[in-house]
Amino acid sequence: MEEKNISCASHEAVAASQQKHGLTRRSFLKWAGVAATVPTLGQLVACAPQAKMADTGSDDAPAPALEDEGEWKPYRCFRLNCSASCINYALVKDGQVVRVKTDDRNPDSEDMPQQRGCLRGQAKMNHVYGPDRLKYPMKRKNWEPGGDPAKINGELRGKDEWVRISWDEALDIIADELTRIIGAYGNEAVIRAGLYPNPVLTALGGSQGGCGGNSQGGWVYPSSMMTGYQNLAGYYGAYLYNDRLDILNAKLIVLDGNNPSWSALGYPNKVLLDAKRRGAKIVGINPFYNSGLGAIADEWIPIRPATDAALFIGCAYHMIENDLQDQAFLDTYTVGFDADHMSEGADPKDNFKDYVLGTYDGVPKTPEWASEICGVEPEVIRSLATDMATIKPAAIFSCSAVTRGFRGEQAAQAFFTVG
Ligand code: SF4
Repeated sequence: MEEKNISCASHEAVAASQQKHGLTRRSFLKWAGVAATVPTLGQLVACAPQAKMADTGSDDAPAPALEDEGEWKPYRCFRLNCSASCINYALVKDGQVVRVKTDDRNPDSEDMPQQRGCLRGQAKMNHVYGPDRLKYPMKRKNWEPGGDPAKINGELRGKDEWVRISWDEALDIIADELTRIIGAYGNEAVIRAGLYPNPVLTALGGSQGGCGGNSQGGWVYPSSMMTGYQNLAGYYGAYLYNDRLDILNAKLIVLDGNNPSWSALGYPNKVLLDAKRRGAKIVGINPFYNSGLGAIADEWIPIRPATDAALFIGCAYHMIENDLQDQAFLDTYTVGFDADHMSEGADPKDNFKDYVLGTYDGVPKTPEWASEICGVEPEVIRSLATDMATIKPAAIFSCSAVTRGFRGEQAAQAFFTVG
């Protein structure tokens, strides 16, 4: 296979930015080389303009030949909202990444397709070699630790200068401030960046995560709590589905909010296509008819954005009305479906079945009720519900895309309940 080398189209912009930030090319390469010793290549690859990146000793000297030098090392993409797990390699020479390529272990074929990365994955070198990357600890010049209002100078936030400090000083400040703040205000006063637990902060008694009510906040937490899976591995939804290759056994595949050829490049789309060739019926629920559905879907169900909860609750009504649910499974493995299977201390009237039937609020959540909200015709809702309940095995997918709206978590709850 021809190597797919990336040469960065914007290296002039990078060079200008380096100049702006006071970095010489030589010093830039020096720290970048240090970064490149990190073993996970997701942390060391970026778009390397090859001739410009090689340290030739002079900005005007010609680039040395790179072929047959260095060592090709595999790397993985990390935290790109993508779990395609493509295979990428970087050519590492003198501690620096000088070239990247994707999977060429075997000739590309239908039986053994190459797991090629996309340009986004092959541009990871920008993360390492970007001139704006922080390389050492820095502190706001007019801020002092200790909590003394006279030394915080909060009015300078966003305007103050930054000064470089040593790692020892940085670690001392962090340790002392955490100790001081937890002692004075409790662990609730420690707010960590991001969604996932931080083991160090957890060991100190806990912290608060930054998490909104939609997207990951609407998807990860409801899905984790409803299925019993905690996402300790750090990737949302990682354990919520069967193995990707199990899709090949499905006779029905429902993609709620998915656009696999757009947002999950690489191998997943191939698996869906193979499942289709094996006869699986593929249904896409999406506000727009996208490229992924165009390639694989047998049926497209257009829906108003962020109304998936209503659609799935309408499906639940049809399933309950026609006794299509697997009652033995529900009785054995779930809580909350009906009044006889509630968790301890819960009000029996809060069960899902009576909510759907409108037993207490007088509002049956019929397909007609759902249609008013989501815009899908009642007969289409009934047909979808019948398919999901009767075509087995079925693979029903949704994602955080559908929870990116007001009360987005409702979509996740409705999806997992119907699943
Ligand atoms: S599709 Fe792109 S971003 Fe995702 S794993 Fe593959 S190379 Fe990385």
